[in-house]
Amino acid sequence: MMTSSATRGQEPDTGQVDNRREPIVSRFAPSPTGALHLGHALSAVLAHDLARAAGGRFLLRIEDIDGGRSRPEHVAGILSDLRWLGLSFDGPVLHQSTRQVAYEAALEQLAGMELLYPCFCTRADIAASAGAPQAGDDVSVYPGTCRGLTPAERQARIATTPHAWRIDMASAVALAGPLDWHDAAAGRVIADSMAHGDVVLARKDALASYHLAVTVDDAAQGVTDVVRGADLFAATHVHRLLQALLELPTLRYHHHALLADESGKRLAKRHGAPSLALLRAEGQDGAALAQMLRAGRLPIGIGTISA
Ligand code: GLU
Repeated sequence: MMTSSATRGQEPDTGQVDNRREPIVSRFAPSPTGALHLGHALSAVLAHDLARAAGGRFLLRIEDIDGGRSRPEHVAGILSDLRWLGLSFDGPVLHQSTRQVAYEAALEQLAGMELLYPCFCTRADIAASAGAPQAGDDVSVYPGTCRGLTPAERQARIATTPHAWRIDMASAVALAGPLDWHDAAAGRVIADSMAHGDVVLARKDALASYHLAVTVDDAAQGVTDVVRGADLFAATHVHRLLQALLELPTLRYHHHALLADESGKRLAKRHGAPSLALLRAEGQDGAALAQMLRAGRLPIGIGTISA
């Protein structure tokens, strides 16, 4: 925790750096599944500045957990974009594709607590199940179909059928007890992981799920402060729960407003938002753009939405 000036009020100001204060470690963690856009630039600038202003460290993590969708040309693009924006990062780049052992260890730990179960459902099975509620951002809450399989049924199907591993959320929440976390804008937030249902932690088609990988890697990299778009606000409930179960440190969160185009649609790779690479190729000044974003100004035609 940071020492507030109020609790240090008795001490003479020596002009020295207070090295008892926990240094800030922030990160930018893009998925190399497409080109970065202005929303990514905003996340990167804010995360970079948060660390730099405090004499802390700013890290880069490539979230290439999905081998089928990640592309080396996008990794190269991310590095070029950061350079163009004038943002330097510290230390080696962590690639999630190298982290299988760490993810498996975390899954083992949760399996040892009897919180995981194999799920054989396809996307179509889940979509077809009546009334599956939404957990935001078009993510259906899993109806729990495979939770009730007997140990014998699980064993029989594991050998023959592709499967994911889900967390039994009700048991996990009961085990962890009440949790909260802190967001720079929202203040104290009561963790509500139940709203997400039994999320996948080990995917059929990737090393781990986003939720597991991000939690394990933020801890492994010593991250103290997570800066990211408000679209991931709700996911933080799950990350906070996993931190508690895996006995990992709790982080501070800074979810920022999302950028939107003229029609009010959130900038997204899949909606064809103009890439930073395009702005770069047009000869725009990346450092000036970063300056503009840190001053809270946005390019013409770009606005914000909360999530
Ligand atoms: N990899 C995620 C993305 O590109 C961001 C993860 C995070 O900041 O927690 O949307």
